[in-house]
Amino acid sequence: MSSIPDITLNNGQAVPQFGFGVFLIEPKDTAAAVSTALEAGYRHIDTAQMYGNEAEVGQAIASSGLDRGEVFVTSKLSNDAHEPGDARQAFDGTLKALGTGYVDLFLIHWPLPARYGGDFVQTWQVLEEAYRQGRARSIGVSNFQPRHLRRLHGEAEVIPAVNQIEAHPYLTQDDVRAFCSEHQIAVEAWSPLGRGAVLGEPVIQSIAARAGKTPAQVVLRWHIQRGDIVFPKSVTPDRIRENIDIFDFELSAADVEDITLLNKNERTGPDPDTFNGR
Ligand code: NAD
Repeated sequence: MSSIPDITLNNGQAVPQFGFGVFLIEPKDTAAAVSTALEAGYRHIDTAQMYGNEAEVGQAIASSGLDRGEVFVTSKLSNDAHEPGDARQAFDGTLKALGTGYVDLFLIHWPLPARYGGDFVQTWQVLEEAYRQGRARSIGVSNFQPRHLRRLHGEAEVIPAVNQIEAHPYLTQDDVRAFCSEHQIAVEAWSPLGRGAVLGEPVIQSIAARAGKTPAQVVLRWHIQRGDIVFPKSVTPDRIRENIDIFDFELSAADVEDITLLNKNERTGPDPDTFNGR
């Protein structure tokens, strides 16, 4: 297997472009799934306070025999902890649960424009503190629309290193990706497989048959060639290994375009403009 490329963030930190997501993995299943992923070569794990499995992610990394510095770990602030005092406490809780002195990347999980008086800037300032203290090596946001990013741009000292957004062939997110690219914000694509919904598409199936790869591998490769960071989720060991096996083939420009044309602006998750986090 060829190696996983790094993406260099706007502060110079490197992040493996491919990783493992643990949303909806039960705490009791998380350590085993993360251990399988680490054994298969994943070096980037994406968790969140709201997933309830940070401690199990930390346990799997600690028992892997890898140095802490070899694994890039992301977590995200709970929607219930945007008030600055709560956010500080919640961030401390993440480090404690992970059993580590720092997190590689910490994100505001949702902008929640209709909650906390719409003031995600005060929340961002707590992330800036953690960044200055070196306890978050990079900081970023998730589910931010260009209007939310513009506001941070105007009021924040540190520009987000990433914006983690829902993206897959049914939701290509051209406008958010263009804004991020213009402002040196790396894009992370969540639900990269559309939670499996895109895998039956005839276009994807026929490219997969031609390439001798599976539909999931083709879709993940499409993300990689578009330049986004991805971390598919699975608890099935064979799929965990299948999903990382995408660095020995390439899609043609025409294949990439054909998959992009499947876009129908269809979300699997909430709309960031209206979601209030509950
Ligand atoms: P995903 O697109 O990775 O889909 C996961 C599902 O796809 C699995 O449950 C399984 O049913 C199927 N699947 C996985 N590998 C497969 C394979 N090889 N063949 C066939 N089917 C396969 O969706 P996701 O878990 O929602 O997203 C991935 C990660 O993104 C999450 O684990 C989490 O880390 C992150 N995420 C972030 C947010 C956010 O708001 N920031 C929201 C959702 C997810």
